[in-house]
Amino acid sequence: MDQGLTDALAYGSGYLGQGKVADYIPALAGAPADHLGICVLTRDGEFHCRGHWDQMFTMQSISKALLLIYALLELGHEKVFSRVGVEPTGDSFNSIVKLETKGHHPLNPFINAGAIATMGLILEEGRTFVQFMEFLEGLARRPLTIDETVYRSEKETGDLNRSLAYFMKSDQVIQGDVEATLDAYFRMCSILVNTRDLARFGMILANDGQDPLTGEPILSAYYATLVKTLMVTCGMYDSSGEFAIKVGMPAKSGVGGGILALVQGKAGLGVYSPALDEKGNSLCGIKTLEYLSQALDLHYFKGNQ
Ligand code: GLN
Repeated sequence: MDQGLTDALAYGSGYLGQGKVADYIPALAGAPADHLGICVLTRDGEFHCRGHWDQMFTMQSISKALLLIYALLELGHEKVFSRVGVEPTGDSFNSIVKLETKGHHPLNPFINAGAIATMGLILEEGRTFVQFMEFLEGLARRPLTIDETVYRSEKETGDLNRSLAYFMKSDQVIQGDVEATLDAYFRMCSILVNTRDLARFGMILANDGQDPLTGEPILSAYYATLVKTLMVTCGMYDSSGEFAIKVGMPAKSGVGGGILALVQGKAGLGVYSPALDEKGNSLCGIKTLEYLSQALDLHYFKGNQ
């Protein structure tokens, strides 16, 4: 593991300088494009970390996977999936197209429209952003904070997300207050984590919903399977197919440069490098995972897992 990780980081570092930091959210534009870090939590509770693994960054879309877990636990899958589907879109994460052409409900909870709709449902059902944050702190086993600058920056410039939300309100996919829903969504995207936190979230899913440290059940194996399957089909937006072939791990990325990934039954992984490819995924992060997957035989359809 340790040599593989060192080699993977060296391989991923070879791609630093390629890709582009997200600047459509102005406050993200200053992220350190030359940073790359990774952390792996194995089932025995050991963390293996390299590079800029402890750099804090905003979760962005990675939070959508955690919001889905929270929504499933609080409201149950029938209610959640009455508002949002389970199909990949093949479109970019912030596309509005299929909201009109494929019916009014967002196709899955990992595109912006789907996560905004899920947040809307959470608030309609009387839950609050603070409760979601507390849930997340329980998973992370530490207090979490929001990057207020990124939050305000996205709130000021998030007109596309605002359009998605009002479009869905007009179709009753969002039934509560649109601005309150967006506010909670922007806050959620601005929660600060490092790769170690992501590795922990990943290991909980890899461990079929049980806390790897205490054995405490956090979510059912059924819900863990459901979330992991959606991570496979939709977690890397419109490059989920290519990522599945090359890396073969359930994963969820965010435009902050983080990727949460996992190896079933074995490990949770967090990787961070803020320069993105043209699909909005961490370029060096993917390269690092690609190397690691091949070097250690971690693809879900390889080896005898
Ligand atoms: N906050 C970002 C947005 O809404 C999240 C997108 C992402 O990480 N892909 O655009």
